Amino acid sequence: MARILITSAIPYINGIKHLGNLVGSQLPADLYARYQRGRGNEVMFLCATDEHGTPAELAAAKAGKPVAEYCADMYEIQADIAKRFGMSFDHFGRSSSEQNKKLTQHFAGKLDEAGLIREVTEKQIYSNADGRFLPDRYIEGTCPNCGYENARGDQCENCTKQLDPTDLIEPRSAISGSTDLEVRETKHLYLRQSAMKDQLDAWIDSKTDWPILTTSIAKKWLHDGDGLQDRGITRDLDWGVPVKKGDQDWPGMEGKVFYVWFDAPIEYIACAKEWADSTGKPDSEWERWWRTDKGADDVRYVQFMGKDNVPFHTLSFPATILGSGEPWKMVDHLKSFNYLNYDGGQFSTSQGRGVFMDQALEILPADYWRWWLLSHAPESSDSEFTWENFQQSVNKDLADVLGNFVSRITKFCRSKFGEVVPEGGDFGERENALIDELTKRVRAYEAHMEAMDVRKSAQELRAIWVAGNEYLQAAAPWSTFKEDPKQAAAQVRLGLNLIRFYAVLSAPFIPYTSAKMLSAINTLDTSWPEDVAAALNALPAGHDFTVPDVLFAKITDEQREEWQAKFAGKRG
Ligand SMILES: [Zn+2]
Repeated sequence: MARILITSAIPYINGIKHLGNLVGSQLPADLYARYQRGRGNEVMFLCATDEHGTPAELAAAKAGKPVAEYCADMYEIQADIAKRFGMSFDHFGRSSSEQNKKLTQHFAGKLDEAGLIREVTEKQIYSNADGRFLPDRYIEGTCPNCGYENARGDQCENCTKQLDPTDLIEPRSAISGSTDLEVRETKHLYLRQSAMKDQLDAWIDSKTDWPILTTSIAKKWLHDGDGLQDRGITRDLDWGVPVKKGDQDWPGMEGKVFYVWFDAPIEYIACAKEWADSTGKPDSEWERWWRTDKGADDVRYVQFMGKDNVPFHTLSFPATILGSGEPWKMVDHLKSFNYLNYDGGQFSTSQGRGVFMDQALEILPADYWRWWLLSHAPESSDSEFTWENFQQSVNKDLADVLGNFVSRITKFCRSKFGEVVPEGGDFGERENALIDELTKRVRAYEAHMEAMDVRKSAQELRAIWVAGNEYLQAAAPWSTFKEDPKQAAAQVRLGLNLIRFYAVLSAPFIPYTSAKMLSAINTLDTSWPEDVAAALNALPAGHDFTVPDVLFAKITDEQREEWQAKFAGKRG
């Protein structure tokens, strides 16, 4: 039995995510986790909310709540939606957890011991009215280059010129609008990533099985221009992990917190400890996934993320882990995704454009979305959601192919043999040909799933469903029954066994429907079809079943038009 550690990029806390976010990490990670469990492997699947930083503070202020309360509420909402989409996390944690606080401080202490932290005194803008330092992007003013009045302290979005906050004419706080600003000196910690360049370079060179896209992004950051830069890991904020060296105070850093980019990925590890703590397990249980000196040396670690997160996962987080000098498990494979666009434009959280996770579940069950999103995953290039394509895919793949197959065979059996797997007859040439074809296709499906080729896996699964439909069409037990009821019984028996077979193979994509199919066919046998012929004899003659309700309702043109209009603009 293989052991597989899976993490999905952790979603930021400030709001409900759209379907583009979902298909970029959590959903394909869930597909892979469910598949590996289905194959009998031991899986640890972790995700969490990313809770620190200024955007969370501002979102909380907007919602009129203290930031800790805001994050706790949003965590519950995100956890609930993820659950309703079928995310089979072993644990869904929080980067604001006590476990992550301790571990983040631990890593900072180790990095300092290794001489990889330096202190830098900087000048930064302080807002007297807000009583805080302002990050560059929270200072606004007039662009000295083009005169645009709402330029941000890091960049003018009108002329795209990179700016320093002190370049702005009449600068003001983007939080309060106050112009009572002053420049103050403040001290920050920097992680000396530049000192780790060769070590990171060698580590990436050792990853010969990584996609070129991934290694080339990492190499670019390592070598372009002045090479890998040191990065600030602290901020003058209230909300975050207090700066400490392990459990010791850090002189001169009182009242400061670690920058969110530093503590967020450490939550991948802390999340496992949260899991152990919440289920009353000893530390050895989570450490066997994360510490190569404590049992994790045979773990395969796979990360799922959007392409914008690749530099972060190939350089920044590895710098933290490698720099600690401790034997933590490093990533073995990164699976990254391009973007999903929405109906001729982009999904936009700020403009409320597109379908958000909560809205999606209000109009259709999770499996409809899971199937479309995964079968159109933005792998080799960006992909686009359109309502026409969604309607077509649901109606053809799910309703006409899979749903129709299950409905036809169960109803026909009930009418001629009752709700029981019929006995008599033998498999002949046609049945053996089907078994041969399905054997080839199941092996191909397994290979695509192992390789995390999401679209190819979906195509193969669909072809497996189609093969059953075509068999049923050609065998036509409703005609056979008139001349040779025994032969029709064998055909129906095969068809009913295909329902269990499909339920097992399809569970990673459409887990809710898979459960319905297994319930209708009245079995708890979810064993993987290592031997397809044996799998298609799993339900013996005499086994009871019930005809299920319609598995997938077709999307009508009226519904499609209504939804298209509803989601075109600002979310209401
Ligand atoms: Zn400008």
